[in-house]
Amino acid sequence: MKALAKTKAEIGLWMEHRPVPEIGPDDVLIRIRKTGICGTDIHIWNWDDWAARTVPLGLVTGHEFAGEIVELGRNVTGLAIGQRCSGEGHLISNQSRQSRAGKFHLDPATRGIGVNEQGAFAQYLSLPAFNVVPLPDEIDDDIGAILDPLGNAVHTALSFDLVGEDVLITGAGPIGIMAAAVARHVGARHVVITDVNQDRLDLAAQVADVVPVNVLTQDLREVEARLKMKQGFDVGMEMSGNQAALDQMIENLVMGGRIAMLGIPPGKSPVDWSRIVFKAITLKGVYGREIFETWYKMIAMLENGLDIRKVITHRFPVDQFRDGFEVMRAGSSGKVVLDWG
Ligand code: NAD
Repeated sequence: MKALAKTKAEIGLWMEHRPVPEIGPDDVLIRIRKTGICGTDIHIWNWDDWAARTVPLGLVTGHEFAGEIVELGRNVTGLAIGQRCSGEGHLISNQSRQSRAGKFHLDPATRGIGVNEQGAFAQYLSLPAFNVVPLPDEIDDDIGAILDPLGNAVHTALSFDLVGEDVLITGAGPIGIMAAAVARHVGARHVVITDVNQDRLDLAAQVADVVPVNVLTQDLREVEARLKMKQGFDVGMEMSGNQAALDQMIENLVMGGRIAMLGIPPGKSPVDWSRIVFKAITLKGVYGREIFETWYKMIAMLENGLDIRKVITHRFPVDQFRDGFEVMRAGSSGKVVLDWG
């Protein structure tokens, strides 16, 4: 089969011929139809310090996918050959206290496909049946291929009650934009999204009914005044990983405000803790998706009018994967989807 692998310790990924994976008794074999390129894949492509520390050479990369089940392990029940599916890319153990309490997304032994284990940038993927998420007919393969990052957005957005609240999202990358759409869908009052990249703010305004703010040229306080907000935002979602964005969020939150943090800062970064204490701010770190509550909620919302389709800005046949990675690396696209045919 074709597979996109990290075979050399340098910039790039390489298309290889690999054997179709053999599945164990509790696994399924998925024929991949579409995959999404994630920021993590760009780190692996660039072979930055994190990637060099984390990813074993030779690994088949990729973790955002939609496909079709073509083989079932002998113990697998409740799934069928021909079933369209996506799946949770975090593989968990059943040993930890968290897993045994059903909090699978908090399992410290989590391993990621396409990061630690063989990934989805291939014609076939072996996945534990436990991780498979069947796709209803209403969710096509393009959307199925980006449920993983949509799940990050949903997990973050549903961290706090948003009904009637004023929400600030810092970072209009694909996940911030999708989180904005989710916040509108569940009933937030104003949703303001910031970035320093005008292309991305323009895309955010196409995907969701939001107020885009370019913090290089606009004053967030003036925007708040225009929206008749008196004390600041009730809820913040940090989706940039940028220190200045987090500082700005803390400054613009109400007393008792809540922040859900998905963005990953590049290293240790200073935080003005006294501001957090005196403003009585609640800060929640968000990792991955809740397994499987996030999946349940996001599919239900997609079936009930949540529309994030325009966040997919580019589609390429997989043989043009280099073009897809170049578009992503340029930093102004939304989601880029590769078609495996
Ligand atoms: P992205 O890199 O595509 O988008 C980040 C955006 O933040 C960019 O558009 C950038 O221009 C913007 N930005 C930079 N400085 C800013 C500032 N001062 N104010 C406002 N915006 C600013 O990322 P993405 O793929 O949308 O993911 C969002 C974040 O979530 C990233 O940090 C990513 O690493 C992280 N992430 C975390 C998890 C998790 O499980 N915690 C999972 C996936 C992604």
